[in-house]
Amino acid sequence: MQWLFDLLMFFFPVNCLVCGKRLASPGGVLCLGCEFKMPKTGYGDRADNPVSKVFWGRVPVEMGTSLFRFEKGSSYQSLLHDLKYRGNRKAGMYLGRLLGNELKYTTFACCDVMIPVPLHKKRFRKRGYNQSEIIARGTSEVMGIPVLSNLLMRSRHHSSQTSMGRYERFENVSDNFHLTRRHPDINGKKILLIDDVVTTGATLEACSQVLFYHFDCLVYIATVSCA
Ligand SMILES: [Zn+2]
Repeated sequence: MQWLFDLLMFFFPVNCLVCGKRLASPGGVLCLGCEFKMPKTGYGDRADNPVSKVFWGRVPVEMGTSLFRFEKGSSYQSLLHDLKYRGNRKAGMYLGRLLGNELKYTTFACCDVMIPVPLHKKRFRKRGYNQSEIIARGTSEVMGIPVLSNLLMRSRHHSSQTSMGRYERFENVSDNFHLTRRHPDINGKKILLIDDVVTTGATLEACSQVLFYHFDCLVYIATVSCA
């Protein structure tokens, strides 16, 4: 079968998403060098890390964390871009597994279920998948925590957030999340909310508030990147 493998690699070469170097295996996403140089935060479950602090005084989440820092113009941005806009689910699974490896020996491992931040139905149909769910599946593979993607819904389409301030963004998404009609009962559970990126935290704050409103639960937050 090696000849078939070589033939596939010849016609469909796979390149590192960061530096563009040809990879040795079709299942790869980054070369070893780029994986090593990823600007990881190293926050793990440090209580006062900058991602946790985003939520202080806003919503009582237990802890937040991120895998790597999102720097404008950084070549690592292409990883999330490929996942979000070019249908590269493999990149999502890969990032999810990296996140899982960062968290599997931390407080986050005590979570009972993972909930990916949902996409609006319209956007989901257009994209065909929810990038946060793909990330959660990768993380779940490593941590063994089940993914619940049938609990939260995003109710209406909102305009692009890039030109808004924090308050407007919050207003823009605050009533966007609600429970599905046949949602599972997660009372008493520790929930790990998963998203691709955290910037102002407005989306994750809104999700957490819906969870706190309906359930007696603890909420942890993990994202692939942070600004
Ligand atoms: Zn590379």
